[in-house]
Amino acid sequence: MNYTKILEEIKEEVAPLIGKGKVANYIPALASVPNNKYGIAITTINGNCYTVGDAEEEFSIQSISKVFTFAMAFKSIGEKLWQRVGKEPSGNPFNSLVQLEKENGIPRNPFINAGALVVTDSLIHNNFNPKKSILDFIRKLSGNQQINYNTEIARSENEYGHRNYALAHFMKSYNNIYSEPDELLDVYFHQCSLSMSCVDLSKAVLFLANHGVVPNTDEIILTTSQAKRTNSLMMTCGMYDASGDFAFRVGIPGKSGVGGGIIAVIPGELGICVWSPELDEFGNSLTGVKTLELFTTKTGVSIF
Ligand code: GLU
Repeated sequence: MNYTKILEEIKEEVAPLIGKGKVANYIPALASVPNNKYGIAITTINGNCYTVGDAEEEFSIQSISKVFTFAMAFKSIGEKLWQRVGKEPSGNPFNSLVQLEKENGIPRNPFINAGALVVTDSLIHNNFNPKKSILDFIRKLSGNQQINYNTEIARSENEYGHRNYALAHFMKSYNNIYSEPDELLDVYFHQCSLSMSCVDLSKAVLFLANHGVVPNTDEIILTTSQAKRTNSLMMTCGMYDASGDFAFRVGIPGKSGVGGGIIAVIPGELGICVWSPELDEFGNSLTGVKTLELFTTKTGVSIF
């Protein structure tokens, strides 16, 4: 497969979409990202990397971090995690409070904000230094020791994070958050603030394309079954309230963030990351979704 040619072709075909979405503007540090940035990176499980555009440039990974914290929690807590968080698509916006009340403080899935807060809370509960262990985990998976938190973004998220505070306090009232909301939100805003490039992320997600094992080191991150379940969750819940549309159009598991990044995997083949900051009405990268749709169409690979 000539990935370089395919990526170049896609870059050209999606160019007219730039200018049709809206860069996230709920914090100044995200609002100031140039709207015309665009990069794709693919890393195959046999170690080849293909890129186009701004694939080496770092951006704010935001909700993509939820996949990595989930993997850490699933590895250490296992099935008990499901006592505190569900596995159904929410059919509601990612930061919705409404469903939580009807469902007694148990979030629908680990990839909406409430679910990700429970996951991060479980890391705090099981670990003395979650900020360090999240960073170590990400650096190890991507093979890049330079990756770091963007403390300015984390601070800004905190300043405008009233809804996330509300979610944490609300779940604490149902005894589904064990730590103090201030401590929890500090870790959560830091994980969202991680700065990574498409290349870093295409490598970091590779264990999910390889039955839970990091291909070049053979380190087991998740069991085969856990990796399958994580991919299933990405497929059904990874793209906010447009997960069904993404599954229909793209046909592979993916997770997006409001920084404009999307990670996705083709099991047995590769990890891919696309970045384009303008978002559609659901909060997914407008050009990013189209890019992945074209990728699975042109290559003919998907999970179906
Ligand atoms: N830090 C953002 C929030 O929790 C993450 C948003 C996202 O990427 O979905 O509101």
